Amino acid sequence: MKTMTCRQLGGPCELEHRGETADDVIKAQDRHLKDAEKAGDGTHREAREAMKGRWRHPKKSMDWYRDVKQAFADLPQDQPDPRH
Ligand SMILES: [Zn+2]
Repeated sequence: MKTMTCRQLGGPCELEHRGETADDVIKAQDRHLKDAEKAGDGTHREAREAMKGRWRHPKKSMDWYRDVKQAFADLPQDQPDPRH
């Protein structure tokens, strides 16, 4: 498992998403942005619009996906929590 924050995915906050793959954290971020939009959170609007644009124009967004996948690949694996 690895952790990426909302900010690392183009958002404005430090919420952490954990996943096995870059796709996992991208999906988690997408859900987070949708939730923020529903909650009327204006700080996430720009990131939400950018994410919507990516779904509409997947070819134009290849660079973003590649960068996120590369950043995810470069992250260290989460250390198992010894308290559990
Ligand atoms: Zn956020």
